[in-house]
Amino acid sequence: MPGENLGITVKKEEDFSRWYTELVRKGEFMDQRTPVRGCDVFMPWGYAIWEEIMHAADRMFKDHGVKNAYFPTLIPESLLTKEAEHFEGFTPEVAWVTEAGNEKLSERLALRPTSETIMYYMFSQWIRSYRDLPLRINQWVNVFRWETKATRPFLRSREFLWQEGHTAHRTLDEANQEVMDMIQIYSKIFREYAALPFLVLRRTEGDKFAGALYTVAFDSFVAETGRMIQIGTVHNLGQNFAKPFDVKFLDKDGKEKYVWQTSWGISTRLIGAILAIHGDDKGAILPPRLAPIQVVIIPIVFKGKDDMVLSAARELYQRIREMGIRVELDDRDEYTAGWKFNHWELKGVPLRIEIGPRDVQNGGFTAVRRDTGEKIFVKREELERIKELLEEIQKDLLRRAEEKLEQNIVTVETMEEAKKAVQERKIVRTYWCGDPKCEEHVKEELDGAEIRGTKFLEIEVPENKKCVVCGREATQVVYIAKSY
Ligand code: ZN
Repeated sequence: MPGENLGITVKKEEDFSRWYTELVRKGEFMDQRTPVRGCDVFMPWGYAIWEEIMHAADRMFKDHGVKNAYFPTLIPESLLTKEAEHFEGFTPEVAWVTEAGNEKLSERLALRPTSETIMYYMFSQWIRSYRDLPLRINQWVNVFRWETKATRPFLRSREFLWQEGHTAHRTLDEANQEVMDMIQIYSKIFREYAALPFLVLRRTEGDKFAGALYTVAFDSFVAETGRMIQIGTVHNLGQNFAKPFDVKFLDKDGKEKYVWQTSWGISTRLIGAILAIHGDDKGAILPPRLAPIQVVIIPIVFKGKDDMVLSAARELYQRIREMGIRVELDDRDEYTAGWKFNHWELKGVPLRIEIGPRDVQNGGFTAVRRDTGEKIFVKREELERIKELLEEIQKDLLRRAEEKLEQNIVTVETMEEAKKAVQERKIVRTYWCGDPKCEEHVKEELDGAEIRGTKFLEIEVPENKKCVVCGREATQVVYIAKSY
């Protein structure tokens, strides 16, 4: 409301954590003032970004032959514990339903932390022969992870939204190919929609998804804190679930075989990454392709000339709408133009159009870029310029974030250098022997920074390099950083 302290009171560079919290609350992305800690409200503005992500991703999944379904939230304990390693990985975070009405349930039911178990229980009943393969099922749902650490809106909460894709294939090769295909699709979503750069890393054995053969993760980067954010994962599950869940098929050769599986997901964490990475001291900067409102028109009205400006603004609104651009006309007269500027800047709308009496006389309007503040006069007959500007903003956001990521990777060969680099909020690139003991040592010595993994399929072979911890011969080039 006018008069209230609308803007963010701290600078992103100076106190990132507070900046982020204020941004999320004042920008009305999420409300954490709920009765259950970590189960937060996705407010309309935040949820609308998720809807844009869903639209974009869902189209790509379907083009790839994925079908959507919905599986139950409640998973019996006996099912969840069937793949032991998987269950171990989730135990501390599982929320349980133990009673219904006044009756104690005979078996505890978990609120799904992820749906491998319930889905593959069904897959074993659906899949009969090789003709049923590949099977690709996705669901857009909520999941629960009962975090004990401090929660952070979008980045760490007890209930969040995601999509989880689950596939079954005839051969390991086909499952590996599925992993590659999903990496392509996710890369497109992150780069071309979210405007986020990332490293595609193969997680270490200790850090992979419990129950997977291997895990490939996308890590983006918040330069202000030097922390990486995992924004998506793709797992090759091998036959680790097929065996306990008895997911078998009759192959072409007449033999019964276990399927090979993958699972992959992106979550509402992606919204947190977009806010954290692109935002500035004034608020959010949403990438145009995911912004619920891409252009906001603000008429600058003075007494006596209102009609002319307002009708020009309304006409402009109609024409931009007809171009397929998500546009809003903010012609509320209870707010000043200045208040509206701040309001929409805080929310991150990529392009603002100001139209006042002089603009109308000059046959156009002024477009203001959210990312650079640049003002551009656009003639009425050159409306295509709006589309171009949105595309330029989209590209520039990615380019700037990419530069920040690249500039912050430093290659080191000693723990001393690694320590210094972590303190300077860098991503460390270094050499590792592969021993989990050295991995553990890194965590202890580097103030919680961890080995995030090796570059997936862009294998960098260390030549005559020594493990940064133990000095033995290195087998891998690894990236080390703190993370959210
Ligand atoms: Zn070592």
